[in-house]
Amino acid sequence: MSVTDDVLKANEKYAQSFTYANLPMPPGRKLAVVACMDARLDVEQILGLQPGDAHVIRNAGGIASADAIRSLIISTHLLGTQEFIIINHTDCGMLTFKDEELRARLQRETGALAAEPARFYAFPNLEQNVREQILAVKSHPWIPRQIPIRGFIYDVKTGKLKEVKG
Ligand SMILES: [Zn+2]
Repeated sequence: MSVTDDVLKANEKYAQSFTYANLPMPPGRKLAVVACMDARLDVEQILGLQPGDAHVIRNAGGIASADAIRSLIISTHLLGTQEFIIINHTDCGMLTFKDEELRARLQRETGALAAEPARFYAFPNLEQNVREQILAVKSHPWIPRQIPIRGFIYDVKTGKLKEVKG
């Protein structure tokens, strides 16, 4: 049986005791989070969030990519979120390679060129990366000026968040 079959079984169980049928669409705590997709980060648990509380936007690295910013714009303008948090973490896979190396390897292994993704957003420094993501969100003209945007590094060995000052 595949993992997909396994998780579908788990979903059957989940649906048997489902209690979230009446949650409103706008996040109750008016929070949006951009976080790395790393499997060790249980963002809701880390932040004490319940279903319905917040938007959690995840990608490799916790990057304020064009698509993450697209989600944040929708999150705040259409669904009322008023605070943003960006979470990177220690031991991130994005610290372990360089964009050019991965691009060259993929071209070699597939024999094909590709215009997208234009960037993989690998980075060598966590604090600096968090600052750059805060800046990317803050400087977008469709992100309201008054939204607080704070960045953190999650320690995968302790479960703690450490704030990165912009
Ligand atoms: Zn990561």
